[in-house]
Parts: sequence; C-alpha cells; structure tokens
Amino acid sequence: MSKSIESKATLNNGVEIPFLGLGVYMINSGAETENAVRWALEAGYRHIDTAQLYGNERDVGRAVHKSDIPREEIFLTTKVWNANQGYDKTIRSLQESLKKFEFDYLDLFLIHWPVQNVRNDTWKAMTTLLEEGTCRAIGVSNYTIRHLKELLNESSVAPTINQVEFNPFLFQKDLLEFCRSNDIQLEAYTPLTRGRRLNDKTLLMIAEKNHKTSAQILIRWALQHDIVVIPKSANKDRIYENSDVFDFNISDDDIRTLDSLKENYRVCWNPTNVT
Ligand code: NDP
Repeated sequence: MSKSIESKATLNNGVEIPFLGLGVYMINSGAETENAVRWALEAGYRHIDTAQLYGNERDVGRAVHKSDIPREEIFLTTKVWNANQGYDKTIRSLQESLKKFEFDYLDLFLIHWPVQNVRNDTWKAMTTLLEEGTCRAIGVSNYTIRHLKELLNESSVAPTINQVEFNPFLFQKDLLEFCRSNDIQLEAYTPLTRGRRLNDKTLLMIAEKNHKTSAQILIRWALQHDIVVIPKSANKDRIYENSDVFDFNISDDDIRTLDSLKENYRVCWNPTNVT
C-alpha cells in the first residue's frame, strides 16, 4: 500500500496537496455542507474542494473554524467562476471568497473554465495573488492540451494543477501524459461518474475480487495513477467509505482492465467546446 490518507502530492512550486479530498459540489449551503466537511475532517480528510459557483464557501469555512484542526493542516481550494473572470474581477472575487471562508489566505485558486478572451487576464491576476501570498498555489480546471499550451506560452508561471473530469470511463491518457511532462499535477473531478457507472460489470467484478465497493475501486484507481482525487458525498457513511481506500492495491492487470473501460463518457461539459 503505497499511500495513506495523509499522503500528499508535491506541486511544481513545492506546495503539498493531499491526494484525497472531499468535493462539495451540489451540497446545499448551511448544515448539509457543514456536516459533510465535519464528517470528512473526522474521517481524516485534510483537503476540501469548493468553488465560488457552489455557494457553500461560507459553510466550508465555518466547519473548518469549528474543528480543532489548525488551519495550516487543511488544504482549501476554490475556483474563480466564469462571470468573475478578468484581471480586476478575479482579484475582487478572491477577496470575497476569503471573507466568506473567514480566512486570510487560500491554498489553491483555480480558473474554473477556460473562458475565451478573458482567461489569460484572469491568469495574470492569479499570478499577482500568488506573489502577494494570498494563495499558496494557483492552477486551472477544464483545460485541454490546447489551453495548457496557450497558457504555458503566455506566462512564465505554470499552473500547479489541472483539475478535469477523469475516471476510467473518461481515461484521458494524452492529457495525463502532457500534464506529467510539464510538471502539472492532474486532479480528477467526478471520479465516481456521479454514481452513473457504479454498476458496470467489470468494475463490480474487480470490486468483488478486492472486497471493496465500486466507488472505492474508482478512487483507488485514481490514486494508483498518482492523481489527486476529490469524490463528493454528503452522506456520513459514504464519506467514510470513500476514505477507506488505503489498505489494498488493485493489481497491475486490473488497473489496465480499468484503463480500458475508456469510452469518452462525460457527465460534465466537454471543455473542447467551451467558448
Ligand atoms: P462524483 O463522481 O464525486 O459523484 C458524486 C455522487 O456519487 C453523488 O451523487 C454521491 O451521492 C454519490 N456517491 C458518493 N460516494 C458514493 C459511494 N461510496 N457509493 C455510491 N455513491 C456515492 O461527482 P462530482 O461531480 O460531485 O465530483 C466530485 C467533485 O469534483 C465535486 O464535488 C467538485 O468539488 C469537483 N467538480 C469540479 C468540476 C470542475 O469543473 N472543476 C466539475 C464537477 C465537479 P451522496 O452525496 O448521496 O453520497
């Protein structure tokens, strides 16, 4: 077992991010988010992934404040929403996010989508926020190889992370290899296919063989590919279940079988077509 719940990936600027995080998309603001974050922290997660779009930054912040875990032991990500892109708006939007969290710095700030015409100004603002120390790391989300090449040409500051939809049914090997060769950490969102492929026969067979659930196999598959992974659950038992993935290894053969489930299946928008 090469990883534990405490294992971290080291980003290209030296900052460390826990491989396992809790995603909080579509968890209602208020008690539902607060409880989910509290259970995750109790289960040992130290990484929470939210976004300005999700409307629950305040509740994430509140749960972290209420825990007795020091702020610096918890890795917090948020993302600049499309309507907040552009140089000035990005800077203002992070100030607003921090007010909601009631913290004075963020661990990771991501461009949520590569919005045409504004994404490079947004990136400049992110580099300013990084220089000022308002964020410890900056990165992107939903960037294809084309978007990454454009950014690497434009700026001397490379993104630390590219957060994209990624699971065996959408195994984007070329993107993974491109990120790796440019020292950009890949982070998998929708790692559980939002539950839609958990009954896949091959997945169930590998789950049974390992005495684990389909969800646990999908999370472990990402970890064995050295991908940061952020399954979402608002349910206490499933939050614990999703963190119980560090006591077994999927065999190399079964990893290859999972890789071959690739069918370009997407739950979210395809970023190739985003304008
Ligand atoms: P996931 O693939 O994580 O699936 C979440 C769904 O699976 C929920 O319906 C959840 O239900 C269910 N689930 C969770 N655990 C289990 C389990 N053990 N067994 C069965 N069902 C389970 O989808 P998300 O789209 O939420 O992706 C994860 C995170 O990635 C998001 O929360 C967000 O932080 C991020 N994200 C980023 C995007 C971007 O554009 N950058 C886009 C989309 C997501 P329940 O809550 O009832 O357990």
